[in-house]
Amino acid sequence: MSVDTVSLTGWGRTAPTTALRFRPRSYEEAAATVRGCGPRGSIARGLGRAHGDAAQNAGGSVLDMTALDRVRTVDAAAGVVVCDAGVSLHRLADVLLPLGWFLPVAPGGRYITVGGAIGSDVHGHNHRAAGSFARHVMEFELLTADGEIRTVRPGTPLFDATAGGLGLTGVILSATLRFHPVATSLMAVDTQRATGLDDLMARMTAGGRHRYEYAWVDLTARGRATGRGVLRRGEHAPLDALPAHARRTPLAFRSSAAVPAAPFPVPDLVPGGLLGRMSAAALNEIGYRRAPRSRTGELQRISAFFHPLDGAPHGTRVPGRSGFVHYEFTVGPGREETLRRIVGRIARRRCPSFNAVLKRFGESGPGWLSFPEPGWSLALDLPAGLPGLARFLDSLDEEVAGAGGRVCLTDDSRLRPGALAAMYPRLPEFRALRAELDPKGAFRSDLSRRLSL
Ligand SMILES: Cc1cc2nc3c(=O)[nH]c(=O)nc-3n(C[C@H](O)[C@H](O)[C@H](O)COP(=O)(O)OP(=O)(O)OC[C@H]3O[C@@H](n4cnc5c(N)ncnc54)[C@H](O)[C@@H]3O)c2cc1C
Repeated sequence: MSVDTVSLTGWGRTAPTTALRFRPRSYEEAAATVRGCGPRGSIARGLGRAHGDAAQNAGGSVLDMTALDRVRTVDAAAGVVVCDAGVSLHRLADVLLPLGWFLPVAPGGRYITVGGAIGSDVHGHNHRAAGSFARHVMEFELLTADGEIRTVRPGTPLFDATAGGLGLTGVILSATLRFHPVATSLMAVDTQRATGLDDLMARMTAGGRHRYEYAWVDLTARGRATGRGVLRRGEHAPLDALPAHARRTPLAFRSSAAVPAAPFPVPDLVPGGLLGRMSAAALNEIGYRRAPRSRTGELQRISAFFHPLDGAPHGTRVPGRSGFVHYEFTVGPGREETLRRIVGRIARRRCPSFNAVLKRFGESGPGWLSFPEPGWSLALDLPAGLPGLARFLDSLDEEVAGAGGRVCLTDDSRLRPGALAAMYPRLPEFRALRAELDPKGAFRSDLSRRLSL
């Protein structure tokens, strides 16, 4: 097992902290690390794609799980996979697609691990149809604070605390997952431009027939164009939709090394640490104009439809050297006015925001700290160096909490603990289970200390 001292951040590159990083190669090594962790405790880390400090542990240990990356068994008839928690979703797609199975939930980044997907209970563009990741987990093995390995199944408190539990109940070592059947590895995609937020929401409300749906929103547009965006809906393409030459290998995983065309371009590092408002508006304008007004049935690679932001898989396409804050929240059905008000406030403030994505969520999963709940979700990136950002986002938190909504914890880097209880009503159960399971606090992270989880 390799051990080193490293400075770590989340994907937003804010608030680096130093920890002792262990990279176990077996379950026994992982258990030894947890048993031997010092007073600052330990936390599991996957590929570090959570935007905030959920996989950091200042002055303590971090278990880098990426060396535990075996795909153990594949039942090609049933679409059931048993794998180590350090396997990436990209690798699973690579193995399973040629067999006619796709990820049940594909988040916007595919370079994330199975452990991270369960620990954050990630959602995808198909939340209304499929719910979040944990719904497709048949069981997992969890290394708990006592160094024991438990098999955890749905319908138990430990499952519900661990799905979206941010690594704080233990280290997931392996999981059994159910996949979704597909006939081809291409997507049939419909695109529509919407002239403003109301137009966009009306189209999304009227939709619902497609398995996948999301909208990119131009949060720099103002006036009547406030909240304009590009709506994208997709289905796995049926065999007869493919051109003749592609029908010979319909399930080839055409992920391609080439950078997929991003509908919303993100610039590389900008000298001076802050992407200006003008350039943000210009880039958003290009993103909007580049999209077709209306197009149906366009065949796209899975990577282009789901993962435009993965174009530079291990690069740092970050606006500004101080990193960026990812702000992601939900508001329930009937609370559209809050969403309108927040979008209006961001636009009027002329925030240089990027990668804003609007989705509609379906039923919540069982996870006590899982983020998705029925309604609307908006996610956006903002340069961390933006003057007055902390106060501005605190005031958005108040609006969100006041409307019965919540902020996503796995991507959070700045929420105040006071806002948490209203957003996550099952927090007391989570804290009680942790107190019983892990009385000495073997599992801790910067996020758990910041929010007293
Ligand atoms: C480009 C991009 C797009 C994204 N799109 C989406 C999206 O559409 N939907 C969405 O929900 N998220 C999205 N995310 C966020 C990301 O998918 C999640 O944060 C995911 O959890 C990251 O997985 P990871 O393996 O990198 O985990 P890390 O970032 O390393 O860790 C995330 C959390 O999981 C815990 N964890 C990791 N491994 C384990 C384990 N083995 N056992 C227990 N706990 C563990 C960590 O302790 C931490 O709390 C996106 C991120 C990026 C960079």
